[in-house]
Order: sequence, then C-alpha cells, then structure tokens
Amino acid sequence: MTTIEANREVLLDISGVGKRFTGAAGDELRVLDGIDLQLRGGEIVALLGRSGSGKSTLLRIIAGLIAPSDGEVTYRGTPLNGSNPGAALVFQSFALMPWLTVQDNVELGLAARNVAPAERRRRALDAIDLIGLDGFESAYPKELSGGMRQRVGFARALVLEPDLLLMDEPFSALDVLTAENLRTELVNLWATEGFPTKAICVVTHNIEEAVQLADRVLVLGANPGRIIAEVPVRQPRPRNRRAPWFEALVD
Ligand code: ADP
Ligand code: MG
Repeated sequence: MTTIEANREVLLDISGVGKRFTGAAGDELRVLDGIDLQLRGGEIVALLGRSGSGKSTLLRIIAGLIAPSDGEVTYRGTPLNGSNPGAALVFQSFALMPWLTVQDNVELGLAARNVAPAERRRRALDAIDLIGLDGFESAYPKELSGGMRQRVGFARALVLEPDLLLMDEPFSALDVLTAENLRTELVNLWATEGFPTKAICVVTHNIEEAVQLADRVLVLGANPGRIIAEVPVRQPRPRNRRAPWFEALVD
C-alpha cells in the first residue's frame, strides 16, 4: 500500500445491515436497522452513540462474531462467514488472560493462527515495544495499571497486523489523563509509517474522544440503531504536545 489511491480501497462494506434480538419475554428487539457503512484504507472512523444504541452489536457484526439479521457485510469483497480475517478487537475491559504473562497474552492470537514459536516471539516483542511495554514482557496483568493493561490489549490486537483495528470503548475504563495520553500515543503511532493496520473503527459515547481520533464521526441513534449523522472532522490531531511533568499524572 504505497499510493493514496491504494490506501482508499474499500476494506469493509456494510449494506442494509439490521439486527434483531429476542428479548427476555420473547418479544423482538430491533437493535440495528438499515446500516450502510464503508471503511476505507487510511481512515479512522468513530461510531458515536449513547449506551444501548447498538454500537457494540455493530462492532461485533463487523468483527464477524455475530451475524446480522438483514443485509450484508463484506471484507475485501468477500462476505463474512463466522469471522473477519482482517479484523482485530480491543475491548473496554481489556479481556486479558490473568494466568498468562504480557508476552503470552500478546502471542495468543498468533498461536491460534499457527504461527511458528520463533516468529510468534519476534512479532510479540515488536508489538510490545511499539506500544511502550518494553521491559514488562514477563509481568502478569494483575501487576499492571489499567493503562498498561490496555496497552497489552492494543499489542495483542496489533501483533495480528489487522487491516481493521476495531476498538469498543477502549479508553472508558481508564482515568481521563491516562485515557488522553494513550489516545495521543495512538494517533501519533497511526501517523507513523509501518503502523500495522490500515483503518481504525472506534466505538465510543465520548464526543471529545471521537473528534480527537477520527477523520469522520458516524452518529448512531437508538431504537433502532441507525446512522443519523455523518460528521467530517477537520481539526488537526494533537501531536507530541506532552510536557515532561505529564508522565507523573498518568499510569
Ligand atoms: P451499546 O454498545 O451501544 O451500549 P449494545 O450493542 O451493547 O449497545 O446493545 C444494544 C441493545 O441490544 C441493548 O438494548 C442490549 O440490551 C441489546 N442486546 C445486545 N446483545 C444482545 C443479545 N445477545 N441478546 C439480547 N439483547 C441484546
Ligand atoms: Mg457497548
């Protein structure tokens, strides 16, 4: 991917997607309805909506973890079937394996893809280094702060070199300064050549976060979830504006 044109290729195409669940009383719950959305190489898209608007459901559909009730989702032109080979997820609650070290948590997805041990190790160390966890390879999640745990969450996703990095409220379990710090690092890394992902979709209910991260913000209305607005973001992203004392405030 060198040219701008190649960077703008459609990676994910969502067309007419709806999702219905059966409620506790056997009633039908329409969570998403008529969602059309394309994710292209080189862009960061935020899905902004209040709690219950169907954001996580949409992200899970994009990841191929659940199937839509209506419509179609394709990754590079191929309909999803049980998984999305180009996507990796970062979760709000980190979802780390507490009995595994940082290194082993990061290697897990590669092991599942049958990557040989030596290459697993090399790629995991690269991802750990990239995300600022150098020196913590042998630590266990419980020994880490929330911010460091989410760094492991990022390393575990990035090590897969996914075309699409999908993040479900990845900063909302962190204190505001730690969250801001990690977001700034992420957008700085995104601007770096060789960052191992082509597009990012971030789900959030935080408008500042959406505007800080995204090139465009899609607003999801509730009941049923529909994209009710698309807002381009023109604001320059913050870059390397950190004062030396900032380190003392973040975990
Ligand atoms: P958000 O992430 O925007 O808060 P969700 O996608 O988690 O919203 O949920 C949207 C709605 O769908 C909520 O009302 C939720 O209770 C419901 N829902 C989500 N998953 C299921 C499920 N597996 N079965 C039934 N209802 C569900
Ligand atoms: Mg959610």
